[in-house]
Amino acid sequence: MNRDRLKKLASDGRFIAGIYNYCDRWCERCPQTLRCLNFSVSEEEFSDSETRDIRNEAFWKKLSETFRETLELLRESAKEWGVDIDTLDSAEGEENIKAKDVAAENHLLCRVAKRYSQLAEDWFGRKETLFFEVAAAAKEGVSIEEAIEVIRWYQYFIGAKVMRAVRGNIEEKEERCDEFPSDSDGSAKIALIAIDRSIAAWAVIQHYMTDCGQEVIGIIAFLDDLRQAMQETFPKARSFIRPGFDGVDAIG
Ligand code: SF4
Repeated sequence: MNRDRLKKLASDGRFIAGIYNYCDRWCERCPQTLRCLNFSVSEEEFSDSETRDIRNEAFWKKLSETFRETLELLRESAKEWGVDIDTLDSAEGEENIKAKDVAAENHLLCRVAKRYSQLAEDWFGRKETLFFEVAAAAKEGVSIEEAIEVIRWYQYFIGAKVMRAVRGNIEEKEERCDEFPSDSDGSAKIALIAIDRSIAAWAVIQHYMTDCGQEVIGIIAFLDDLRQAMQETFPKARSFIRPGFDGVDAIG
């Protein structure tokens, strides 16, 4: 996509600014694709089946072209605003960035979220055969396939968003910035939504696979502890308004 086309799209009034910052990236299930610039760019670039295929070299070529155009556009805008983006990273210093990454990685919330990803992975590894048997039998109501889809979608997403929230919180404290809404609250909110949905999906699994009840309840309890700890650490997260999803521009 050339720069002019990207500029034209970016100035289209139907798009909600920053909608993709606090979504769950599940575009297939998103009710706001028409108002998302990110989605429109991807659709225009990768709409035919050949370029959509991530194994296809053309995909990566197009992606790097889009990246380059976006970077140039960013530089142009930064110049207009009087910001030199080349000095932004060096100003903070590599050591400082690394120290924050390590602090976030070692944070209890991040370790618990990571542990959850592993718990889910282990469970699926052990129950795979049983799952296919039960899936064939359970075709009514909320399907077990849908529940699995939800759990799998959020399995690693939760850890990534908890990490981003914790990392952002460290920076905001360092900069003594207690403005609301903050990016860390936005990340914490989407992490909490993903946790809520995962808990509901595990409950569906428990409903169908009664012989795994104890184990599934253990995972639900683990997730619930993480949910509570996140809410205590980010008390404003639930009231964060995500553009396009929670505010006046939300649909449904
Ligand atoms: S807002 Fe919706 S369409 Fe846009 S990136 Fe997020 S999930 Fe995808």
